[in-house]
Amino acid sequence: MAFELPKLAYAYDALEPHIDARTMEIHHSKHHQGYTNNLNNAIAGTDLEGKSIEDVLASLDMSNGAVRNNGGGFYNHRLFWEVMSPNGGGEPTGELAAAIKDAFGSFDAFKDAFSKAAATQFGSGWAWLCVEKGGKVSVCSTPNQDNPLMAGVDCDGQPVLGLDVWEHAYYLNYQNRRPDYINAFFNVINWTKVSEYYASNK
Ligand code: MN
Repeated sequence: MAFELPKLAYAYDALEPHIDARTMEIHHSKHHQGYTNNLNNAIAGTDLEGKSIEDVLASLDMSNGAVRNNGGGFYNHRLFWEVMSPNGGGEPTGELAAAIKDAFGSFDAFKDAFSKAAATQFGSGWAWLCVEKGGKVSVCSTPNQDNPLMAGVDCDGQPVLGLDVWEHAYYLNYQNRRPDYINAFFNVINWTKVSEYYASNK
């Protein structure tokens, strides 16, 4: 069973004005489709075929550039679409809110740490909120399509929130203003979904 481009739970224009429809359409139908197709080509006929994407990434040979880049791209974008919603924004509640307060002191301090990780990732990459077994959360960033599931990546735990800071994610609307895009992302974060990921990975 080949990997398939996941359908979005909302329309391409649903995240406007924070993320514009044209960017969403190109990002999903071209970029994510490209990673999906290239991943399928890279694993066809190998012993990776038929594995879950999580298993593919957890057991990845990091010298396998095709699977590293396209498997990462497939997984990262799937998570990215899910942690956004037209009804998003605000702050988490419950045990995730408590874990963020434990780790950072306040939601605002978490927002600063996550935004800094996203803003200072040089070139293309991602910012992450991760959870370790036991419930501790932390922020990190990775270059290119690397992610916290991959061996040797300097992030602890499972990703529960990811932000794409490749220029293709924001350049049409924000040009070089990555900080404005990062700030806008906070208006569409689907904290309900992030909390579900937190609960199932803590
Ligand atoms: Mn992207």
